[in-house]
Amino acid sequence: MPKRMKKKVVVNRYKCAYCGACISVCKYNANELVETFLLIYEDRCTGCGVCAKVCPMGALEVIKCTT
Ligand code: SF4
Ligand code: SF4
Repeated sequence: MPKRMKKKVVVNRYKCAYCGACISVCKYNANELVETFLLIYEDRCTGCGVCAKVCPMGALEVIKCTT
């Protein structure tokens, strides 16, 4: 059976400035700032890429993966 392709967003922790801009635009509640750590909940993230577009640091990237 072929594997399903899925999109998700990943964060580059060296670039992230913890500004929170990506959190306010995610309508799936798929990300959260915990102290100085941006968490992305893979089960909720659709890989829509909205957060990556607003990130001022270019710290978010949408990637394709198999499930
Ligand atoms: S890619 Fe879309 S669903 Fe995933 S964290 Fe970013 S805004 Fe939310
Ligand atoms: S918008 Fe970019 S810099 Fe700001 S918290 Fe999100 S990933 Fe980090």
